[in-house]
Amino acid sequence: MAILIDGKKTSQDIKNEIAARVAEIKTEGGKIPHLAAILVGSDGASQTYVGAKVKACHEIGFESTLVRLDETISEEELLAKVEDINANPDIDGLIVQLPLPKHISVEKVTDKIKPDKDVDGFTPSNVGRMALNWPAYVAATPYGIVELLKRYNIETSGKHCVVIGRSHIVGSPMSILMARNGYPGNATVTLTHSRTQNLKEIAQTADILIVALGKPEFVTADMVKPGAVVIDVGIHRVEDASKKSGFRLIGDVKFDEVAEKASAITPVPGGVGPMTIASLLYNTLLAAEKKVYG
Ligand code: NAD
Repeated sequence: MAILIDGKKTSQDIKNEIAARVAEIKTEGGKIPHLAAILVGSDGASQTYVGAKVKACHEIGFESTLVRLDETISEEELLAKVEDINANPDIDGLIVQLPLPKHISVEKVTDKIKPDKDVDGFTPSNVGRMALNWPAYVAATPYGIVELLKRYNIETSGKHCVVIGRSHIVGSPMSILMARNGYPGNATVTLTHSRTQNLKEIAQTADILIVALGKPEFVTADMVKPGAVVIDVGIHRVEDASKKSGFRLIGDVKFDEVAEKASAITPVPGGVGPMTIASLLYNTLLAAEKKVYG
């Protein structure tokens, strides 16, 4: 049976570390980190995600500002709002919750965020800096995975890492991070996607398998090498009448059977998910302390 890579506990450890630093900053009379989030429209999932981020800020002693905008807002008005926050010296980090309404260009809005406030790590500047192995804000989900690998002392050097999925927010950055010269990194990386042939055979050769394709329980035990480390990024709600909520969460990996074969595995829920918010908070602390852009 695999070791459980516990993202819930690890994210709480990170939040405690950040809260301790905030307490020190207060004692030193320094500036309390301040995160601003822009939420456009009333999408239920987006409201839940932003709500969880704002709540986490309060828990660890950060200041936060939630800017709610109507979904009819024009692109220019939204860009102007981003400019306002860029220019506000009191705000250290800015996130714009995605998705945005169809009439607004995600690229234009992302590109408008000042790179030194881009704590989501989505701007071209931060993606480029990450690829160059320069100090950068790394996108929260990949950063959370890197932190889990570190805190569980997973050996990555010389290993074969297979990433399934090439999205801009998870798979692609993950493949860059695992290949870069450092720890975790120095892996030989295969980035796979929807056009990949023989995915099963490729997955079977992975020492580290990072799964982010967004298909429930896609990875089964026959796709996994005995002793592999398996990181499951997927999150899906499935109906479950036995639960009070009426649903439960599952990942992109068939957990029970893969856990029998792997040496270490992240569960869903309680794996990568909670790490994402902890990473965002950590990036905001870095921004407040000017530790990336100086
Ligand atoms: P996405 O839909 O943007 O990208 C999916 C990728 O998977 C694409 O690159 C596609 O080419 C690839 N793909 C699709 N079908 C495939 C197949 N049959 N074989 C190989 N590759 C295939 O997804 P995303 O935003 O990267 O999210 C992936 C999953 O991770 C989703 O379930 C999402 O909810 C979850 N997610 C979780 C967190 C978290 O905090 N835990 C954060 C982001 C995303």
